[in-house]
Amino acid sequence: MARCSVCNQRTGYIDTGGFHGRFRSGEPLQPFCPWCIANGKAAEKYDGYFNYFSFLALEESDLPAHIKKIPEDQLDELVFRTPRYSSLQGTEWFIHCHSPCIFLGKTKWVAIRNNPDIFNDINNDGVWFNGRKSEEELDAGWLEYWLTNEERVGYLFKCFHCGKYLLNVEYT
Ligand SMILES: [Zn+2]
Ligand SMILES: [Zn+2]
Repeated sequence: MARCSVCNQRTGYIDTGGFHGRFRSGEPLQPFCPWCIANGKAAEKYDGYFNYFSFLALEESDLPAHIKKIPEDQLDELVFRTPRYSSLQGTEWFIHCHSPCIFLGKTKWVAIRNNPDIFNDINNDGVWFNGRKSEEELDAGWLEYWLTNEERVGYLFKCFHCGKYLLNVEYT
């Protein structure tokens, strides 16, 4: 069992999913146990964060309006106390109705095809690619092509408030 680099406890659950922290030579930043992530001690110890948005590089005053409207405690929880999900090229966490969405996990075409609620939301306007909104016309055949290909992965989210499904597709 791995040992948490914050509390030094050995636990069966350990996170190595990615973290941006201040480098200290000779001191490994990870792994972290789930408790040190959830109580904020991991982010605090290494002065870092788990999840990010491109806006983090901007000045506070330049933040997009939809990000400014996220309650600060929710933003803090996502950035500092939520482990990153495993992905190919970094991560993009959806915001909808001014809150971080629920991450449901990786998904494949068959799961979307078999659930009309998910399919309809995504077919209407829910697909993004590596964090950017698709400008292509979507149809079932196109989604099937993308999500049955081994090199493409879909990450499914759901809005806490309105229940809408959103899909981020990554390619290698
Ligand atoms: Zn710990
Ligand atoms: Zn919503």
